Amino acid sequence: MLLNLKEYHRPKGLVEAVELLKRKEPRTVVLGGGTWLVGEAPRDVEAVVDIADLGLNRIVVEGNLLRIGAAVTHQKLVESELLAPNTPGALHIIGETAQAMSGLNIRNRATIAGAIVTADAASPLVTALLACDAEVVVAGARDKSKEVQEPGDFWKVIPLAGFLAYRQQVLNEGVLITEVRMPIPSPDTRSNYRRVARTPKDYPIVCVAASFAMKDGIVGNFRVAVGGIAPVPIRLNRLEFGLEKKRLAEWFESELDAQMQMIDPPGDWLGSAAYRKEMARVLVKRAVLSVAADARQAT
Ligand SMILES: Cc1cc2nc3c(=O)[nH]c(=O)nc-3n(C[C@H](O)[C@H](O)[C@H](O)COP(=O)(O)OP(=O)(O)OC[C@H]3O[C@@H](n4cnc5c(N)ncnc54)[C@H](O)[C@@H]3O)c2cc1C
Repeated sequence: MLLNLKEYHRPKGLVEAVELLKRKEPRTVVLGGGTWLVGEAPRDVEAVVDIADLGLNRIVVEGNLLRIGAAVTHQKLVESELLAPNTPGALHIIGETAQAMSGLNIRNRATIAGAIVTADAASPLVTALLACDAEVVVAGARDKSKEVQEPGDFWKVIPLAGFLAYRQQVLNEGVLITEVRMPIPSPDTRSNYRRVARTPKDYPIVCVAASFAMKDGIVGNFRVAVGGIAPVPIRLNRLEFGLEKKRLAEWFESELDAQMQMIDPPGDWLGSAAYRKEMARVLVKRAVLSVAADARQAT
C-alpha cells in the first residue's frame, strides 16, 4: 500500500522524471497504471513519478522496428491494428497474451512496462514479448566506466531476457523504462501461443510462445519462450540454436529432448516440477507444430 506517500509528481519531460527518480531520498518510484503499485508497493516508498504526461503511450513503426511506449496499456495492445489477436503474421501473440493478463478493468490501466517490472513466472505477455525478441529501452542510465557521461550514455537498450534477470539492479539505478521495442518480423513469420491452466479463463500454470519462418521445411529466426518453469519466463536458447536453419521434421524431437534435459523447474501447489516440465514439452510441441502447419498452409 502507498501508506507513506508524501509526494506525487507528474513531470512533462524525461529529464525531470529521471532527476526525481535518482534522488537518494525520499524513496521514489515510477507510477504506471498503478494496478500493482497501489496495492503492493514497499512501505518505504514515499514519492511517485507518474509517467502519464511523458508521451509514452504510443505504438509506432519506425523502419523495421516496432516501438511500444512504456505507458501503453494492455488493452491498447489488444486493440492495436498491428498486434490484435487474429491479426495475420506473427505479432498477434502480443495482443492475445495482453488479453490473457487480466480482466478489462485492469487491462485499461496496466501498462506494458508495469508488466515487465512485475513479471511473474508465467506472465503470458512477457512470454510472448520474449518470443518476439523484445528489448527494453531505459532513460537515465550511466556508463560506469566513464567519469564524464556523454549524452548517448543516458539511454540504454537491454534485451528483455537480460532485463528480467537483473531488473532490480537496473531499476535501483533510478532509471525509467521509456519503451519496449522489437524487430518487425518478416511477412512469412508465424507465431503461436499455448497455455495450460486450471480452467480456460485462469492465469496459466505453464505457457509457451513460438515464432519462426519456415521455407521448404527449414526454419529461420526460430524463437521459443516458456513461462512457468523458472522465476520469470525464459527463452529456450538450446532449442533455438539447435534448430536454426535446420529441417524441422528431422531435428525437432532430438533437439527438444536435449533442451528438456536442461530444464529443472521448481514445483509448487499449482504444479509439481515433473508436471511443469512435461507441460512445457507438450506445449512447445503444440506451439511449434502449429506454426509449422500455418507456414505450410501459407505457401
Ligand atoms: C486484480 C488484479 C489482477 C492482476 N492480475 C495479474 C495477472 O494476472 N498477471 C500479472 O502479471 N499481474 C497481474 N496483476 C498485477 C499488475 O496489474 C500487472 O503486473 C500490471 O502489468 C502492472 O502494470 P501497471 O502499469 O499497473 O504498473 P504499476 O502498478 O504502476 O507499477 C508496477 C511496478 O512497475 C514499476 N514501473 C511501472 N512503469 C515503469 C516504468 N516505465 N519504468 C520503470 N518502472 C516502472 C513501478 O515502479 C512498480 O514497481 C494484477 C493486479 C490486480 C490489481
